Amino acid sequence: MPKTTSKTNPARELVFGDLWEYDPAPETADPKLKQRYDLFINGAFVAPKKGSYFATINPANETKIADIALADAADVNSACIAAQKAFVSVWGKMPGKERGKYLYRIARLLQDHAREFAIAETLDGGKAIKESRDFDIPMAAAHFFYHAGWADKLEHLAPGRKVAPHGVVGQVIPWNFPLLMLAWKIAPALAAGNCVVLKPAETTSITALKFGEICQEAGLPNGVVNIVSGAAETGAAVISHPLTTKVAFTGSTEVGKSIMRSLAGTDKKMTLELGGKAANIVFDDAPLDQAVEGIVNGIFFNQGHVCCAGSRLLVQESVADEVLAKLKRRIAVLRVGDPMDKNTDLGAINSREQLAKITDLAKSGVTEGAEKYDTGCKLPAKGFFFRPTIFTNVSMSHRIAREEIFGPVLSILTFRTPEEALEKANNTPYGLSAGVWTDKGSRILKMSAQLKAGVVWANTYNKFDPTSPFGGFKESGFGREGGKQGLLDYLSVV
Ligand code: NAD
Repeated sequence: MPKTTSKTNPARELVFGDLWEYDPAPETADPKLKQRYDLFINGAFVAPKKGSYFATINPANETKIADIALADAADVNSACIAAQKAFVSVWGKMPGKERGKYLYRIARLLQDHAREFAIAETLDGGKAIKESRDFDIPMAAAHFFYHAGWADKLEHLAPGRKVAPHGVVGQVIPWNFPLLMLAWKIAPALAAGNCVVLKPAETTSITALKFGEICQEAGLPNGVVNIVSGAAETGAAVISHPLTTKVAFTGSTEVGKSIMRSLAGTDKKMTLELGGKAANIVFDDAPLDQAVEGIVNGIFFNQGHVCCAGSRLLVQESVADEVLAKLKRRIAVLRVGDPMDKNTDLGAINSREQLAKITDLAKSGVTEGAEKYDTGCKLPAKGFFFRPTIFTNVSMSHRIAREEIFGPVLSILTFRTPEEALEKANNTPYGLSAGVWTDKGSRILKMSAQLKAGVVWANTYNKFDPTSPFGGFKESGFGREGGKQGLLDYLSVV
């Protein structure tokens, strides 16, 4: 290949993708969407009492997909009453082995409808279809399978003691992994014998409401699962309702703090899964090509809309130039564009508001003196898109090193000694996740023990499994989701 420069970005050398293009490979199956989605309460789809709806759009082309019911406090009240009735009359007293059968059924139905759900998720949320298809939906099913197995073995969670469900659980989730976050919440709650009222995020309600159809198909008793769509006010109504004895929230630290304040003095149980600003630490003895794949996965997976994203790269000074060169070469071939194309790596940013937030923080990086590099790739004319972006010359005081960007923007800092890496990694109010790349097992163990993060990945990044508890320290929240620890958060132990 002749060594020349790209037309769109003269600072960049031409790479394979500039000369050769993939043919379009759009996913074309029917996601079986409705034009209007009602609330799922007591086993049926019902119109909101006030008859209010809001539009959900496709962030990749800004066209309307459907009208979504807007639940108010009266609708949330109906959902909570239905959940309480189901808990007292059926679900709370059903033997675990019978409850487990329903969870298995839901898991299998999610697999049966996987393609439909993957497409709906991508249309409504903007994530690349290969991620919805290969990660979100299979993992959601896996959570139901895993928790189905626990339903009749709960006494083994706390040997010698008694466990009991809380009753009605109020759950509020964000938009970055809509169905998967629902599965993280509903599967353990049901396995433990609780009934739920769940509010999806306002930009991504479709797969949650489609999940209502799965509950119907599974023959789940009425009222065990209730889905109330809406925005912040609906979430607040779920959380503050007197019948919700436990609250499980995933979202921003700011809202998490306001929920804590509003529930102070009540005896509601609470788990909060909040934001993050993870350090992904690369030592000079790390397998660098493998590390670069981990860096790319860490920050560009799901357009960086990941709470545990490795958004701060800490690289040892002696290999910083080499890592940066490899990273630039690697991101130059990332494909940004139509999320429905099977070859797309980065799809659309979830909403106009989120795009504005990412743009603002990236601008602050430039203003504060960091050096910005993006791939210069062409973006679609419509929709919300942001190029994979990396910042060098970042200092710890820059906003891009401190604030959660929740987009495809990586801040690169360097360090000389393991102590300096630890000091920088832990110098954040967050504590959700971290990555360590090194050839030395002893260094992995030492770093993992001293990093203040709920999850530490070693020589890999963004690995998830239903058996493995996930959750934060400090302002990243408390409580765990997944594994035995996650299930225990849905039970009282006496
Ligand atoms: P957000 O806090 O704005 O909203 C989350 C959910 O809470 C939405 O459903 C929203 O409608 C609802 N909500 C907003 N205000 C509320 C209120 N006052 N009372 C009750 N509900 C309210 O967050 P977001 O922008 O949707 O999601 C992104 C955030 O979620 C990021 O900070 C990310 O790190 C975090 N997140 C954390 C995890 C984790 O496991 N720790 C996982 C995914 C996302």
